[in-house]
Amino acid sequence: MSLLDLLSSKPVLFDGAMGTELQNRGLAVGSPPDLWNIEKPEVVRQVHLDYIRAGSQVVETNTFGGTQSRLERSGAVEFVDSVNSTGAKIALEAAGKTAAVVGSVGPLGSLIEPYGDISKEDAAGMFRKQVETLRTYGVQTILIETMISLDEALVALEGAKSAGASEVGVTMTFQRSGDEVRTAFGESAADCVRRLEKAGASFVGSNCGSGFEDMMLVATEIRRSTRLPVLIQPNAGVPTVENNVVQYSGSPKGFAEFVRSVSKIGIEMIGGCCGTTPAHIEEARKVVDSL
Ligand SMILES: [Zn+2]
Repeated sequence: MSLLDLLSSKPVLFDGAMGTELQNRGLAVGSPPDLWNIEKPEVVRQVHLDYIRAGSQVVETNTFGGTQSRLERSGAVEFVDSVNSTGAKIALEAAGKTAAVVGSVGPLGSLIEPYGDISKEDAAGMFRKQVETLRTYGVQTILIETMISLDEALVALEGAKSAGASEVGVTMTFQRSGDEVRTAFGESAADCVRRLEKAGASFVGSNCGSGFEDMMLVATEIRRSTRLPVLIQPNAGVPTVENNVVQYSGSPKGFAEFVRSVSKIGIEMIGGCCGTTPAHIEEARKVVDSL
């Protein structure tokens, strides 16, 4: 099923966070969530099922850190194929005919030349390989997310397309400075989405970074800069750490209000990033149904 076929007059509801939700279910903070596809597949499956039961129409594979570079950093490079193949299988099995599945692709975790030491060719190859595996195991739509550099976002898009993916979305992470929203590299949200649109992204948007209020500013800026469908997935507020436990202050009701506001400006797809839970999606579902 094509993700964009789901678009209708009401926003499409994605799932909430995977990484922080696995932490809620026992994953140690700092430990790579993707390896649980192999070690604890039943927990990953249950997270997908809980989101679907709460009303998500789309779930993301637990493969955010499934590139070679990222797994190398975790000392688990030998799992680069199995993390992605099992991630695809678990999500597709949980979704059945009830939800669509998109393949999550996150940043490499190391910078690309000239800021870091990974060449653009190597970087594109790592993204291509991950996407090839996801596609081989049945995930057709790819979501490149949490990109903080336009360069890396464009390289990832190129890699995904060279793997044969025809439906590829890219969401980036922005920070607010005054009334502007920019990436950590200083690129404006408007420039990012225009460049991504030109490079052939099927949809664009933003995820992670900050809470609901700042994300509203990001969403507004993106909405007026592109005609592509837009996906917005905020964190549940800015995290704070207390006694080694990461806490998020954004409540399910607050998220539901965000969903209402962001729907009003014509955002087509909405979900949650870090700190959002099935309870957040359940409240959001009520709002979407009432629109
Ligand atoms: Zn996040």
